[in-house]
Amino acid sequence: MSFPKLVKMQRPRSEEIFRRATDVLVGGVNSPVRAFRAVGGEPIVVDRAAGARLWDADGNKYIDYVCSWGALILGHAHPKVVQAIAEQARRGTSYGMPTELEVELAARIRKALPSCEKVRFVSSGTEATMSAVRLARAATGRDLIVKFEGCYHGHSDSFLSEAGSGLATLGIAACPGVPQALAELTLNAPYNDASAVEKLFDAHRNKIAAVIVEPIAANMGVVHPKPGFLQALRDLSSRHGALLIFDEVITGFRVCYGGAQTLFGIIPDLTTLGKIIGGGLPVAAYGGRRDLMDRVAPLGPVYQAGTLSGNPLAMSAGIASLDLLTAPGFYESLDARAKRLGDGIVAAVGETGAPAMAVRAGSLLTLFFSREPVTDYTAAKKCDTRRFADFFRGMLDRGVFLAPSQFEALFVSAAHTDADIDRTLAACRESLAAGAG
Ligand code: PMP
Repeated sequence: MSFPKLVKMQRPRSEEIFRRATDVLVGGVNSPVRAFRAVGGEPIVVDRAAGARLWDADGNKYIDYVCSWGALILGHAHPKVVQAIAEQARRGTSYGMPTELEVELAARIRKALPSCEKVRFVSSGTEATMSAVRLARAATGRDLIVKFEGCYHGHSDSFLSEAGSGLATLGIAACPGVPQALAELTLNAPYNDASAVEKLFDAHRNKIAAVIVEPIAANMGVVHPKPGFLQALRDLSSRHGALLIFDEVITGFRVCYGGAQTLFGIIPDLTTLGKIIGGGLPVAAYGGRRDLMDRVAPLGPVYQAGTLSGNPLAMSAGIASLDLLTAPGFYESLDARAKRLGDGIVAAVGETGAPAMAVRAGSLLTLFFSREPVTDYTAAKKCDTRRFADFFRGMLDRGVFLAPSQFEALFVSAAHTDADIDRTLAACRESLAAGAG
């Protein structure tokens, strides 16, 4: 398999499909993060994928670092996951009644994240965070929530202020359609600023229901929590009678099997999960202390439901995936692969003198086009997004597909080989050098 150095890709069929897409779909996409607005041009239209490879509708091949936005830690179409889905499909695709599969996946989650004494499956990360906040409000009898600028927790009304991901990409600071009265219940603090959170607790005594945080931020690009930040959130929340919610939709089963809470040894009251636990099918979950979770219907009055929740195809894919992640050395070798990529990018930046800085957390990585360390959203927003766009297009032309935004992470999967990484690094050196002028 050889990747020519600079492929001038032709995409006539993709362009034709996308033209039709823009006629019947909003912006031609079903999620704004797929649009190429921030980087120029039109989205690639995918035909198929396998392992770390993606082919567009014209047969052009890419090394994929989006990997369904982090869901595919095993890469595309892993044979064992495909087999699990196919076998389940023959037995039925949805029952709307309990199955043993749900028990099996929940048991694996609880084993990995003991703070999730009980789990409720939903179909998207948005549902998980929305439901966790509802539960926190019900359990505390309080209305306010604290979130962090640049974090993304899905698109429910309470989370759409100063949010990361697509809102950062498109520059939407506050979303029309969110009632003012509801928006006022969301308090924002800068990421990594525990004293700002303390001030919010002081200013709103006995009114804050929960603090929700990405324990490693990945939706403004990858931003590490500073030492002590998460512990301070744990302490402040406990002291003020609020719940701490870790949104591990990205970090769960990504930074290690037990997620960021295991990595840092901090126990949240509630956790939200998604992406990896569904093996590429629509599954997410929220879980936490038994006494809290037992307030959810049917045991308690906190209502939350879903026609396709715990869908058997998705449960099968999730179980097959999680079982593959327990192979000895899985995370060590994934991280080694990601380190090879990260170190190589740092070297390429050094060689080319590009005004950029790589940040890596396990298999999550962002190249920030900034010379200043990015520790919060204010710093992330100072990045040179035009240079990022040049870099993105340079990589795409060389057969490497990154998320089309400065404010996202790149996801290394177990399917990326050392050879893939080396090809990626060659593309990276060339793209950075080309953008150096
Ligand atoms: N939380 C985090 C941390 C996320 O990264 C995302 C999506 N990228 C969500 C919640 C929302 O998940 P979904 O897109 O499945 O609604």
